[in-house]
Amino acid sequence: MRYTGFEGENNQICHSIRDGKRYQRKTVKDNVDVVIIGAGISGLTSAYKLKDKFSVKVIEKENRIGGASKRGNWKGSYYSYGTADTGPDYEIKYEGRTINFLKQLFQELNVPWQKVSDPSDAFHFRNHLVLDPFCRCHPDLPTSREERKGFEDAISYLEEFKERYGKLTIPPEASPPEWEQLDKKSLRELFANSGEYFLLFLDRYSQSTFGATSNEISAFEGLYYLSRELDERYTCPGGNACVSEALSNHLEGKIELNSTAVLVEQENDTCYVTYVDAQGSEVTLESRSVIMACPKHYAPYIVKGLPEDQKRAFRKVRYDSYIVANVFTNDVIYDAAFATYFDDTIFTDMIIADWIVTSGNKKVGSGEPEVYTLYCPMGERGRYKVLTETAETWISQITNGINRYFPRAEKKIVDIRLFRYGHHYVLGYPGFITGPRTIAKRPFGNIFFAKDDMQGVPCLESAVWSGLDAANGILQKMG
Ligand SMILES: Cc1cc2nc3c(=O)[nH]c(=O)nc-3n(C[C@H](O)[C@H](O)[C@H](O)COP(=O)(O)OP(=O)(O)OC[C@H]3O[C@@H](n4cnc5c(N)ncnc54)[C@H](O)[C@@H]3O)c2cc1C
Repeated sequence: MRYTGFEGENNQICHSIRDGKRYQRKTVKDNVDVVIIGAGISGLTSAYKLKDKFSVKVIEKENRIGGASKRGNWKGSYYSYGTADTGPDYEIKYEGRTINFLKQLFQELNVPWQKVSDPSDAFHFRNHLVLDPFCRCHPDLPTSREERKGFEDAISYLEEFKERYGKLTIPPEASPPEWEQLDKKSLRELFANSGEYFLLFLDRYSQSTFGATSNEISAFEGLYYLSRELDERYTCPGGNACVSEALSNHLEGKIELNSTAVLVEQENDTCYVTYVDAQGSEVTLESRSVIMACPKHYAPYIVKGLPEDQKRAFRKVRYDSYIVANVFTNDVIYDAAFATYFDDTIFTDMIIADWIVTSGNKKVGSGEPEVYTLYCPMGERGRYKVLTETAETWISQITNGINRYFPRAEKKIVDIRLFRYGHHYVLGYPGFITGPRTIAKRPFGNIFFAKDDMQGVPCLESAVWSGLDAANGILQKMG
């Protein structure tokens, strides 16, 4: 069998800058009000919000828009290259107003969200399949009383916290004041006494959701995501990519693909962005403002004149790495839940790509084609493997895992496509959101900083909020 292997992620130019290459400004080719670097959801949200008032240009290094929110289609079914779902129906209180920024944007864009039907989650640990671990209703939740206790403790903790203080939110600053203390400890510290079985789940969940184990991420970030699990979850066919696509539909002619920003300068209120375009030519744009909606560890290399404290803060923005594998089969090999966690495979979890369309009604052995999206978090330490290990190595580890849980399924696999993420996934380590992030996200003159890394939690809400926040900064500054 020949599998497609790797698709995507063009990193040569960015890595050459990391390794010392520097670019010079060219003769200005064009002039716009705002240049946005990065066509992920945050950059596209900023562009969408500014496009009616200013001339806008978005520069994207890949050959497609979407960043971590892209999708593909196989035999009529959409599948995700990264993000899976969200919970869009929630309100926040911010600067004295009650707003629901996701719902408002999705309604404006006509995003076709649907509720994920139950069972939305399951885990397959120690040869036992548990459906809906966060529902109090399942008597088979894990096997012994002691093992069940960890889950019950976690649910009680989340419910009591919400009852007593209110909801944890994005932006973190709209959360009850207790969020700051939560940011300073690790998620594991909160649940240290919840039993070995729950901690095993917490680590796999945490690796899948944040790319790092529960002692490497902050309790704020962990609880924020866990509390989403108690609420209803929503998605579109192919995951959150429908948001990036809906945004880009309003930005025709404003996005330049295959273009990597390599230098950002400002002089007397004028910005200059130099980039390498699709033909390999170096081009400079002049603008009144810039939004950097790309990973921030890159900022100290390309933004000229950054204050020392902000440079240091950008260097403390850390990222996890990921391989996402889409496995195409000519028959259904699993049908129990939308998302399922596993305890000892290279992939922490797996999504059934068209669950939202079929509501789980495609049954094992029905002979219908299916796509399974498998998440393989590699953390910070495993990043080198994401670049150096061959597609064959990944595919062999993935098929081993599939065979372990679904005997004889390998014969039904038609193709495996891999996608790598080097630095998309911000690591919300303890102290980051209340610490370096607050310095990093400060506007620098006419340069604003968006992307989920400026909220510290890798999720759709962070991307949208940071895009809106940067756009508001520009509206205030430029009228
Ligand atoms: C594997 C995975 C699974 C996820 N699952 C979920 C989920 O289920 N639910 C959820 O809510 N969130 C999820 N997330 C997080 C969510 O996808 C992100 O928070 C969101 O998509 C980030 O959008 P962004 O615009 O902030 O950044 P990105 O999507 O990272 O966009 C940044 C863009 O900048 C571009 N860029 C970088 N450098 C340059 C340069 N020099 N010049 C030009 N362009 C540049 C990149 O190519 C990219 O397109 C997941 C993320 C990943 C990676």
